Amino acid sequence: MAAEEQKNSEQSYRAMLVEEVAAGKYDQTIVRRPLSDLPAHPVRIAVSHSSLNYKDALSAFGNRAITREYPHTPGIDAAGTVVQDTSGRFQPGARVLVTGYDLGMNTAGGFAERIAVPADWVAPLPEGLSLRESMILGTAGLTAALCVEKLLEAGAKPDDGEVLVTGATGGVGSIAVALLAKLGFRVAAVTGKLESAEFLTSLGAWKVLDRETLAPFANKAIAKPLWAWAVDTVGGETLFNVIKCLKYSGGVAACGMASGAQFQANVFPFILRGISLLGVDSVELPLSKKTEVWQKLAGPWYIGEQLEQIAEDISLEQAPEFLARLHRGHGIGRYVVDMT
Ligand code: NDP
Repeated sequence: MAAEEQKNSEQSYRAMLVEEVAAGKYDQTIVRRPLSDLPAHPVRIAVSHSSLNYKDALSAFGNRAITREYPHTPGIDAAGTVVQDTSGRFQPGARVLVTGYDLGMNTAGGFAERIAVPADWVAPLPEGLSLRESMILGTAGLTAALCVEKLLEAGAKPDDGEVLVTGATGGVGSIAVALLAKLGFRVAAVTGKLESAEFLTSLGAWKVLDRETLAPFANKAIAKPLWAWAVDTVGGETLFNVIKCLKYSGGVAACGMASGAQFQANVFPFILRGISLLGVDSVELPLSKKTEVWQKLAGPWYIGEQLEQIAEDISLEQAPEFLARLHRGHGIGRYVVDMT
């Protein structure tokens, strides 16, 4: 490394900066920022990997419900090595990961070679996962695992029948498919990208259904029971269409809003079939619970070679283009930002 370059990298770091360049128009560029720009939090981390999530796409394209002020660096996930920790909890060199809380929302996020965060946001990298693998999973993996946990806690068993997963080619969806298949469930994967059916079957999907399969249920108060359980990453009308088609005593773990936040509902599936609507949040979850789920994902719920099938490695410079894909609902699997 040339002397000048070496000096730059000691005093500054590369980061994505999202700026409002005209009313309602946001640009994402990769810039060099001085280390003094980092927030005044105790744990400084040299980020080796981050990953793209739907929420990052919202932040990168100016959604003020996610990010109030711009210029801003998005990235709700980051993994890397502790550089310094004035709280004393982590030794320099410790391998750690951060997902959720305020990272990438109103605190400068993981699309950068450095972050500074409160110690309460930082989890040790679980044994058995590499930094890169932890970001293939990222918030999406944590959320998928929490959805599966919710179903198991509600009593889900493979013999009950098929489990529906909506938004199946997305980050949360694809990991939910792989995880449920690993645990022995027959997964019906719902997608708007039928051309990716092979990808879904390679992750373990039992069958692949066109998103349009659910549309006719919109006009019904309750429909024929088809699936035992479901993971819904899509929200909106889709969520209630799924609820209408669950078998007696079934439930849906609801985590997403890729198609919308609102839906019209009635009480029939709840009072005639005892259906449960199980909400899932992976963002504000206490760190102790996040750490417990990470141990599971690194151990008994490790999805091994499926992780590689799901992952596509991209550079920080490529991240804006891939965020645009996610924003349009065109993403497939997980995009890992490699900053090594
Ligand atoms: P992705 O963008 O990776 O995946 C979303 C998928 O949803 C798309 O690939 C597509 O899959 C499907 N989809 C997109 N638009 C529509 C539409 N209009 N109608 C129906 N389906 C659509 O997002 P993530 O996996 O990162 O996140 C999924 C959702 O989960 C998001 O809403 C996100 O905000 C939420 N989330 C919630 C968390 C929580 O803590 N509750 C944590 C993490 C994510 P396909 O083409 O296969 O149908």
